[in-house]
Amino acid sequence: MCGIIGYTGTANAIPKMMKGLSVLEYRGYDSVGIAAERDSQIQIVKCKGRIGALEEKLRDHPIEDCHCAIGHTRWATHGGPSDKNAHPHRIGAVTLVHNGIIENYKDLRSSLAAKGVNFLSETDTEVAAALINDCFFHLSDPVASIREAIEMMKGAFAFGILFEGYPGEVFAVRRGSPLILAHGSDGYYLASDMTALLPFTKEYYALKENQIVRLSSGGAKIILSDGSKVTPEWKITTMTPESAQKGGYSHFMLKEIHEQREAAVKSVSPRIDKNGLPDFSSDGIDKDFWKKIKAIQIVACGSAMHAGLVGQRMLEDLAKVPTTVHIASEFRYHPPMLPEGSLVVVISQSGETADTLAALRYAKENGVPTLAVVNAVETTIAREADRRIYTFAGPEIAVATTKGYCTQATVLWLIAAAIAHTTGKLDDARARNITQSLLKDVPAAIEKMLKLENQYHKIARNLINHEHVFYIGRGIDYALSMEAALKLKEISYIHCEAYAAGELKHGTISLIEPGTPVIAICTEKELFEKTESNIREVRSRGAQVTLICREDLAIPADSADEIVSLPTDSDEATVFAAILAIQYIAYETALLLGCDIDRPRNLAKSVTVE
Ligand code: GLU
Repeated sequence: MCGIIGYTGTANAIPKMMKGLSVLEYRGYDSVGIAAERDSQIQIVKCKGRIGALEEKLRDHPIEDCHCAIGHTRWATHGGPSDKNAHPHRIGAVTLVHNGIIENYKDLRSSLAAKGVNFLSETDTEVAAALINDCFFHLSDPVASIREAIEMMKGAFAFGILFEGYPGEVFAVRRGSPLILAHGSDGYYLASDMTALLPFTKEYYALKENQIVRLSSGGAKIILSDGSKVTPEWKITTMTPESAQKGGYSHFMLKEIHEQREAAVKSVSPRIDKNGLPDFSSDGIDKDFWKKIKAIQIVACGSAMHAGLVGQRMLEDLAKVPTTVHIASEFRYHPPMLPEGSLVVVISQSGETADTLAALRYAKENGVPTLAVVNAVETTIAREADRRIYTFAGPEIAVATTKGYCTQATVLWLIAAAIAHTTGKLDDARARNITQSLLKDVPAAIEKMLKLENQYHKIARNLINHEHVFYIGRGIDYALSMEAALKLKEISYIHCEAYAAGELKHGTISLIEPGTPVIAICTEKELFEKTESNIREVRSRGAQVTLICREDLAIPADSADEIVSLPTDSDEATVFAAILAIQYIAYETALLLGCDIDRPRNLAKSVTVE
């Protein structure tokens, strides 16, 4: 949530701000702004809206060439989207951009107001600017004032800061929210996410909690909490600028749906040994580790939580490990009993999800081993977990996750196979079948499903005429239905509910009217007859039924209005084929409705606030 960027160096900072902010827009797009320093004067240009609005404003209020600037694209938490709430915020000598929430901002605001500070916005961010300025007033040193001010702040933040009287310098600090430093041939950068800096450099350093940074065109200094200074140990990212571009697709979401063929393979292939068996030793996880696990608690939010539900099914079916899935925001305040032998598995695409991070910290404080399934490397969750397994999906830009979710599910599936194999519940042949299926059948099934675009379009044409849609399924198909409903809601804004197929008749069936679209998923052969009965129940009340179903079933002709057939080369192939179908149906629906697919309203990727 919120993207921040900063630069100081020999080049013009403004084009860099604009380019970086356009990449960071996926993190929030309520308002946008930049602050630039030139000849010791700081000029702020900001407005409600997206980068295009800022470009327009800059035409009327141009900023001349400057070499030092900070920028921000906002996902509002405190105060609605407006010009005055847009960042950067300036109080006295301090101009700053912020990602996060200052939880005690009300108390701080009152005491600062009592000292005479005149606040112009409703944001918590402006309070942070005022507090740092207050400290600067008596300390007259930027680093010392940042250090003193953050001692008084509760919550999460990443700040990019300009101080009056310190031309050519950008200061920064983080706690809870992400921040990356980078080093290019023409200067130094900071950003919420490395993808924003890929057009400029590959050399980066992921800032650690409470580290304060001082950037100038001549160097980057990190100041630790004891006041000692270190120079960053730069790393080279493997991401390319192309990986963060649309590459000919009309939307990032469509590109990422297509990328699932390769992403699925990348997520599992490094974890399969030469005998075709699951092997996580490249992640530093040996067989003994799997053997000790008596229970698993999966903790995640949104689609990652839904991937956890797929994982739960496999962990219980294959590995026979009792597994519970928790919504992270619930777990953190009502943590469950964590029995002896528990492993807490946290799942997060961004590696920065605030609620998931809090749950991870809770588990660690209570001495429970933790494992993170994460896409973005070197992120806070990846760093703080005892062990981490990267999903290797590559940068995911569309707010609605597709390849992120898919690779979380493939990795969890493989973890289940690894535990089952290590503990003797799967013999070599069966374990090998699973790895080969994940490696070969799944991408082939995805490829096959990508060709059914016309069918998804036809289904979507019907959905756009309705306000309510239902997804139903049993077992793993209920888990898939939850993800399907979320996908449709978040990008098309059509209300959609997921129901366990057998549960509908216990109340919700009263909502079925003639024409109500019901989409039933059936990937499990044994459950088809049961689900079919539920389909008949809704059909006899007038529902219009789409069936996403295994191709090897004898489906009575009158079962559905539309049937999407799923390949059945293996269980894995069928499930991942269904995932492709539900994502594509949501995409086509949003497309027909003219929705902003990659940036749905009110949403942002990487939820770094509670
Ligand atoms: N709390 C700040 C605001 O509302 C930053 C929000 C965020 O990082 O998501 O402006």
